[in-house]
Amino acid sequence: MSFSTLGLLPELVRAVEEKGYTTPTPIQAGTIPAILTGRDVLAGAQTGTGKTAAFVLPILQLLSQGVPGGPRSAPRALVLTPTRELAAQIADNAAGYGRYLALRTAVVYGGVGVNPQIDQLRRGCDLLIATPGRLLDLSEQRVLDLSRIRCFVLDEADRMLDMGFIHAIRRVLKLLPGERQNMMFSATYSQDIRALAQRILRDPVTVEVASRNATAERVTQCLYRVPKENKRHLLAHLIQDGNWQQVLVFTRTKHGANRLAKQLEGAGIATGAIHGNKSQNARVRALEDFKSVRITALVATEVAARGLDIKELPHVVNYELPNVPEDYVHRIGRTARAGASGSAVSLVASDEEPLLRDIERLLKRSIPVAPLPAFPILNTPEADPGAERAGADRAVPQRRPRSAPQDSRHRPGTRERHPGNGQSTQAHRRGESPARQATGGARRSGEAHRPHSPQDRRGERRGGHTGTGRTDSGWRRA
Ligand code: AMP
Repeated sequence: MSFSTLGLLPELVRAVEEKGYTTPTPIQAGTIPAILTGRDVLAGAQTGTGKTAAFVLPILQLLSQGVPGGPRSAPRALVLTPTRELAAQIADNAAGYGRYLALRTAVVYGGVGVNPQIDQLRRGCDLLIATPGRLLDLSEQRVLDLSRIRCFVLDEADRMLDMGFIHAIRRVLKLLPGERQNMMFSATYSQDIRALAQRILRDPVTVEVASRNATAERVTQCLYRVPKENKRHLLAHLIQDGNWQQVLVFTRTKHGANRLAKQLEGAGIATGAIHGNKSQNARVRALEDFKSVRITALVATEVAARGLDIKELPHVVNYELPNVPEDYVHRIGRTARAGASGSAVSLVASDEEPLLRDIERLLKRSIPVAPLPAFPILNTPEADPGAERAGADRAVPQRRPRSAPQDSRHRPGTRERHPGNGQSTQAHRRGESPARQATGGARRSGEAHRPHSPQDRRGERRGGHTGTGRTDSGWRRA
């Protein structure tokens, strides 16, 4: 099947061919003809399936065939999407797909100055892509007229609801004219999503592509059972030992993302963070640095990373398991986009076992457990003031930098190699926890490991009693 057989204009077919697309993806084959005939659509598809083109292409065609908007005209199509990054991504795609059509696209989202967006709207646009908050602000300021909207897309509807946008969505709907075509895209179908679909859509064509966890099948998954306090050390080891060039790391909280980014930086790994508390400019910069591989690791919260399209991303790490099992599938789906494959590693502490069980139930299979490698405990700064106060993690022995990193992008750090697996095996035989192996092993090895400050020595002593030697209850090996 080709794009032209879907009924698309030659200008659009040419634009997608120039992007290297030869065949429509299943979601595109399902939605494009329906949208072109004016039907409402309910599509079950997650990012990575080509869903953006599935609504942008036919909308551009409908816009180009409708009454043309003059200069200063109000938008005729609106795409509502949950995150700024996704909005910017959709706008980029729309600009690319519409390059041979005389249509104007505008994008508005929060976290950046409003004036350029107001100027953009005043100049007029045909297609508007927006996040809900900024859209409502602009509408309240009366710089945005939504009365001419004929096509409305609710993108990532499930994520919108997760992010608490339901009231904002209701308010946006009230601003739209009753006579319009609606499209709703959602990766999952909860009761709330069905209710929303019923409210918005009229006699929709339903398109469902590949099962929710189909992406997950193309990803090589494994997990390490590791105590919380050793996760950062293991992660640094995996990145450096595996010579990973690009890894997206998920944490549960914004604070946790910042803290881990600092810790990885301290370990000599160029790292950025992306989450809702960062300014838009900082988010864009971190994302660009990551896409162009100027940084190795990007630590992200679920919401910020949602929908990010990073080509051939090789590694995803769940530093903490998500509370919602479906999010696991979304997260690891970052690495298997547009047919590519990738690896997804989860670091699971004992208190996350129930979350793991939920995920495995959803996947209908268990995630292979990888043997814990011997990994060094790093002399990274303790970036969590709370932990500092409590003295947590201080127990980790402080170590002096020894060797220059192999990878030039890894800044000179403080990493020391663990002397090898033999000792880990011995430790294993002694029945020690991996945490114990990670520290105790190094001590037994006779490697340079002399604390070099009174504080360090304090840390070392505590380590002997309560710190990394402590075993998580789910962790003690028989
Ligand atoms: P999306 O699900 O819209 O985020 O798209 C995921 C990725 O697939 C993006 O990088 C698109 O450029 C790419 N893509 C979309 N449609 C096609 C297609 N028909 N053939 C190949 N790649 C595509």
